[in-house]
Amino acid sequence: MDTARTTAGLLADYKDPSIPTADRVEDLLSRMTLAEKVGQMLQLDARGDIEDLVCVKLGGSLLHASPETMLKTADLIAKTRLQIPLLMGDDCIHGHSFWPGATIFPTQLGMACTWNPDLIERGARAAAVEIAATGLHWTFSPVLCISRDLRWGRVNETFGEDPYLIGELGTAMIRGYQGEGLADNTAVLATAKHFVGYSETQGGRDASEADLSRRKLRSWFLPPFEKAVPAGCRTFMLGYQAIDGVPITANRWLLNEVLKDEWGFTGTLVTDWDNVGRMVWEQKVCATDIEAAGVAVEAGNDLIMNTPQFLTAAQQAVQDGWLSETLIDDAVRRILTLKFDLGLFEDPRLPDQDVQQAVIGCQAHTAINLNMARKALVLLRNDGTLPLAGGLDAGSDGRAQHHGAKTIVVIGPNADDPHAQLGDWAGASGQVDWMPDGHPRELITTVLDGFREVAPEDWTITHSRGADIGELLPDPAGTTYPDGQPRPPLFHSASVNIAMQLDAIEAANEADFIVAVVGDTVALAGEMKSTATLDLQGGQNALLEALIATGKPVVVVLIQSKPSTLPDAVLNGAAAIIEAFNPGMQGGRAIAELVLGLIEPSGRLPVTFARHAGQLPVYYNQLRGQHGNRYADLTQDPLFAFGEGLSYTTIEYSDLRLESDRITSDGTIKAQVTLTNTGNRTATETVQAYIRDNVTSVTWAEQELKAFAQATIAPGESTDVDISIPATECSLVNASGRRVVEPGAFDLLVGHSSRDTDLLRAPFTITR
Ligand code: BGC
Repeated sequence: MDTARTTAGLLADYKDPSIPTADRVEDLLSRMTLAEKVGQMLQLDARGDIEDLVCVKLGGSLLHASPETMLKTADLIAKTRLQIPLLMGDDCIHGHSFWPGATIFPTQLGMACTWNPDLIERGARAAAVEIAATGLHWTFSPVLCISRDLRWGRVNETFGEDPYLIGELGTAMIRGYQGEGLADNTAVLATAKHFVGYSETQGGRDASEADLSRRKLRSWFLPPFEKAVPAGCRTFMLGYQAIDGVPITANRWLLNEVLKDEWGFTGTLVTDWDNVGRMVWEQKVCATDIEAAGVAVEAGNDLIMNTPQFLTAAQQAVQDGWLSETLIDDAVRRILTLKFDLGLFEDPRLPDQDVQQAVIGCQAHTAINLNMARKALVLLRNDGTLPLAGGLDAGSDGRAQHHGAKTIVVIGPNADDPHAQLGDWAGASGQVDWMPDGHPRELITTVLDGFREVAPEDWTITHSRGADIGELLPDPAGTTYPDGQPRPPLFHSASVNIAMQLDAIEAANEADFIVAVVGDTVALAGEMKSTATLDLQGGQNALLEALIATGKPVVVVLIQSKPSTLPDAVLNGAAAIIEAFNPGMQGGRAIAELVLGLIEPSGRLPVTFARHAGQLPVYYNQLRGQHGNRYADLTQDPLFAFGEGLSYTTIEYSDLRLESDRITSDGTIKAQVTLTNTGNRTATETVQAYIRDNVTSVTWAEQELKAFAQATIAPGESTDVDISIPATECSLVNASGRRVVEPGAFDLLVGHSSRDTDLLRAPFTITR
């Protein structure tokens, strides 16, 4: 019998799209058993028997469904009593990660190098169109964590270290995913994660206790998340950390008082993987799953990711009086509201193979991806060698035109490695089992491919690997952790392979230019893969030293998940250094274009580089106050500073002028600066505006980014760039934990990067 029909044969209210959502939710809720309600709160791993997961375990949401599994979800809903549609989610964090052939963009860290919210929004929109076509309703992205310890394995998933930049780029990504609103069937739910403080690790170790005061949270960690709420982000995901002894899953202050009461978030909260179980078997703050279920629901969690025992535990918690059913009802209301708002009861948005054919990896998305990859490259050093031979113009075939044949040798373990180029959460990166070989090789342009594609036809491109990074050995402790997450194999750094190195040197000696592509691999990035050092692993440093010793110009390209430290040979002897991070499917082409001068470098660092892991933390916005400003054995000056990045021309900043140097605390700081292109190539300059509060009631950062703008300037031209910063942004978190503006003397600092020497200063006063 169709229990959704009344005895009169009329459609029950919850199936009637013409009545208000709140009423549909109440109607449906009133028909549900306790088990069905708890089932709606479960998000289960689809890599199991999905009929069992949905019809027996009553899971209302699934993650990690393979393309094959996605097709099977259609029939399942009809087999359930109330036919509540499934909410399908996955980690599509730089493109539809685990869909063969989907457009894979640079990682978030790479995207952040563009400092371009519009482009990031366009990328997210393209990703959403691909994601939605496959039957997914939800992506677990963006990551709004702040990268402060570069040893952490998940730096690649972040937008870097600055709360303001993260907030601007994160909200752009949210807008891109959710598009015109959930009613649009290309909209996918965005997730602000990992709420909050997860990145504040101990020694870079993943998911360790986060040593954070409430004031520190409010100062740096909460602001990007706070921006996600008015941006309309419909879901928040927790991290794994405990703060001050309280697992985030149980943190009522953060989940209820801050997120819901203070910020007015009415969306849905999802735990991280088995967070509820973890409170029993890992953090050991709950004696039983029943207690953990009670604690998690009382703290305000809605969807419980992959804790299957929650189904019985939560029901038992209600029966034993641990937990009030009204709290379960509240959580289920929020989940059902999401399903109704997505229109899933009318259209469950199942996979559509025709749309997939048209949109997945389509040309329009590839073009956005190539544009993103181009703008994500950061030129860190250049002795004038780049662009090679003074720059080349593209012919109609996209190839560089040049007279005088040359040979470029492309060397290094990441020169032709599609996996390193895509980075974590893509194809064969280890999270899913249906793409052992990763994305189709022909869709990925490695650096070697890129040079072959765009170098002048009469140039010779040769290749030699030169070194290995490392090998993977099985971890004797087993292939999975107790919670079922894959246990990464052990990484073993490769020793120098003399034969390989000699081959590379021989090829180098025969070339005019060497492009050395080094970095890390997915074995050194991601969850549970934090690193103890930041050094390039395996034979890479020895290779670089040997290549530089040839005396040929060496362009070092870094394809890596996060900033590494670089050997002196590179810092003193490389002709150029390009940071590419994991530049995505089109990255190799973009790199070749940049080296050849077909495009202009415009990326800027969203994260500070250390000279040595012992310098950590090196982020730019540290609190004032320490004895001296260096180590006895090392400078504290970072290798590359937040905001740095070169172009192929020179841009001069002049005449920073304020509209007024006295501003009320509800006013706006308005200024202009003049930029002049004093070189002979066009450049896109990212103008960065920092605020310094000269005297503060509590210790505070020397300067904080508060605005940025991009301007493209032709050779010889000047342009004025406007800067506008609400005075409310000149705030700090005072000793009682309140964000306030303290009237007094400030500096507006405007320039090319966060380095003092790059900034012009304009003093102003905020009046009472
Ligand atoms: C990660 C999340 C991810 C989830 C589902 C967790 O281990 O921390 O970022 O969304 O797994 O894959």
